[in-house]
Amino acid sequence: MEKIRMKTPLVEMDGDEMTRILWKQIKDILILPYVDLKTEYYDLGLPERDRTSDKVTVDAANAAKKYGVAVKCATITPNKQRVEEYGLHEMWKSPNATIRAILDGTVFRTPIIVNNIKPVVKNWEKPITIARHAFGDIYKASEIRTEEGGTATLTFTGISGKTETVEICNLPGPMVLQGQFNKDSSIRSFAHSCFRYAIATKQDLWFSTKDTISKKYDQTFKLIFEEIYNAEYKAKFEELGISYFYTLIDDAVARVIRSDGGFIWACKNYDGDVMSDMVSTAFGSLAMMTSVLVSPEGNFEYEAAHGTVTRHYYRYLQGEKTSTNPMATIFAWTGALRKRGELDGISGLQNFADKLEKACIDTIESGIMTKDLALLCEDASSVTAVDSEGFLTAVAGKFSRGT
Ligand code: NAP
Ligand code: MG
Repeated sequence: MEKIRMKTPLVEMDGDEMTRILWKQIKDILILPYVDLKTEYYDLGLPERDRTSDKVTVDAANAAKKYGVAVKCATITPNKQRVEEYGLHEMWKSPNATIRAILDGTVFRTPIIVNNIKPVVKNWEKPITIARHAFGDIYKASEIRTEEGGTATLTFTGISGKTETVEICNLPGPMVLQGQFNKDSSIRSFAHSCFRYAIATKQDLWFSTKDTISKKYDQTFKLIFEEIYNAEYKAKFEELGISYFYTLIDDAVARVIRSDGGFIWACKNYDGDVMSDMVSTAFGSLAMMTSVLVSPEGNFEYEAAHGTVTRHYYRYLQGEKTSTNPMATIFAWTGALRKRGELDGISGLQNFADKLEKACIDTIESGIMTKDLALLCEDASSVTAVDSEGFLTAVAGKFSRGT
């Protein structure tokens, strides 16, 4: 069989620990036999980041900007213990944070759904994608705790020297105070990424804030989204038959629970943090959660939402065969290959991604899966738990038989 040819390379960002092992196995067993894979390779494994003083991460992010599509393996975000374990020169920043800052992107998280693992919310039939605005608000807030009572004010001093002050409260103590901010430019980037991703995936977009209470702060989010939608995306949404829908966060929560899924829910930073944990837990497993970073210009970086699965890696180093779930990492590859195919007009590549995803889902639905999923299955008697390689081989079998 002739391999599928590619035009533009994918930006390939390798990573750490167990996911680095899976990365190679996925390529060897599921991709290289069928695709004449073209990638520009960046090793984001911790030793190489340390050797290059993290330059490799910046180079990889710039390559993603240049070519438009990247696929990333999970990477270690070093802490004190990792600095010792790897003898690092510095406690390097999180690669995801570095890449996100360079691409100015928003992260969209979507669960992979299979029919033998039921979501906690019975009526969720289609995936719900959460888009979290990962800048500002309480994550960059300044806080004061005071035992004494008194007056708190909020003062802004402009570069022109002009000032504006409002009284926050005048109360007896003890009490707590918090000051937070966001930037129009960041909210605009967030809005563009959301509208673009809705178009790319042909799904409705929901956005929610608390603008009835927060009449300037949250109102700004609402108005920016509305303005950008009307000016740049409305016509395209109408052409595709998808909708943009704004509602209050409380109303959104109630509607999400009653919905059957199949839409994108854009959230402010804190709402997105909390709601993405709720949605992913309700759908089942972190190992089945995919993630894509979308920049306001429309560059895409695909990855799994989970980390490097350290505990499994230590067992692997002892010579044990681990049952680590490769699904989210496989779907990072298929997501990136499909997007590359779409941009370069290579339908063979898009079909390959569709077929491979179907083979993965069919394999799990036939009862063959890794241990983490076996524990979630309602009908345990129909399940065969396998190790990672066993799973990949089963998928390859299904894929090549086309069933
Ligand atoms: P993790 O790697 O996601 O793993 C946490 C636990 O979840 C695992 O020990 C495992 O549970 C289960 N799990 C996660 N993915 C799985 C899979 N594919 N198959 C089976 N089980 C899976 O999170 P962590 O242990 O907190 O972090 C480990 C390293 O990853 C850290 O160095 C962190 O910095 C990094 N990290 C990277 C990213 C990223 O690159 N995007 C994201 C998060 C964390 P059991 O052990 O009970 O089987
Ligand atoms: Mg969280």
